Amino acid sequence: MLIDAHCHLANLSSKYLLSTLLDEAQIYGIEGYLSNALTSEEVRIYQDLNDKRVKFSAGVHPHFEECTLRVEDINRLAEQKAIWAVGEIGLDRNGPPLPQQQALFEEQLKIASDFGLPVVLHIVGFQTEAWQIIRKYPLRYLIHGYAGSLPAFELFAKQENIRFTISERILRLDKTELLQAMIDSGKYLFETDITAQYVQAKELNPLLRLVILVSRVEQFSGIPLDELLQVQADNYQQLLGSGI
Ligand SMILES: [Zn+2]
Repeated sequence: MLIDAHCHLANLSSKYLLSTLLDEAQIYGIEGYLSNALTSEEVRIYQDLNDKRVKFSAGVHPHFEECTLRVEDINRLAEQKAIWAVGEIGLDRNGPPLPQQQALFEEQLKIASDFGLPVVLHIVGFQTEAWQIIRKYPLRYLIHGYAGSLPAFELFAKQENIRFTISERILRLDKTELLQAMIDSGKYLFETDITAQYVQAKELNPLLRLVILVSRVEQFSGIPLDELLQVQADNYQQLLGSGI
């Protein structure tokens, strides 16, 4: 069983019929999605889709202008038990001034803490600053698409309740040390981070990128596929806790 641990399915629905993509991907073994909502329209799409294979999180993104969600929305969605996690939230070196980002980040960590929800983290730059904040909140975390420095990865990986996703971003030659460290940590899941924007012309089913990603990790690591999938399944369980 394969899980896409970070994607933007609602966003894809502008180009595809989601149920068709999901049914086809299931034939290839992809059985679950930890997807994200960044706008109220996307929240509505997930709620209308109402598909058991798809769980969605919602968060006020640190640096995505089209994000229309507000902190009150996240609180309401958490209260309604509509979301599996708060996120993606975090810090981004390309975003607004740091103190503003830090305040928004903490406000949302408090919501996760109040409702016992996991957190999906988007951390681009500002790794030490992010670390200083999240260590104050002992929650379950998924750091998605991490491609930062190796020492910062090691700092995060020391924390018992943090998991990571392996993405295309670290299947590059200049990131092999990080990829190896992530595999060695045993704290990985896999993600496509797919959005409509990343889709290629004539790409029939972009969800299948996950299958290719995992086979590349298998080739790189020499670890048999069933072992990779077992580690992923264990981490999925840990991340979702009793919320599965
Ligand atoms: Zn994303």
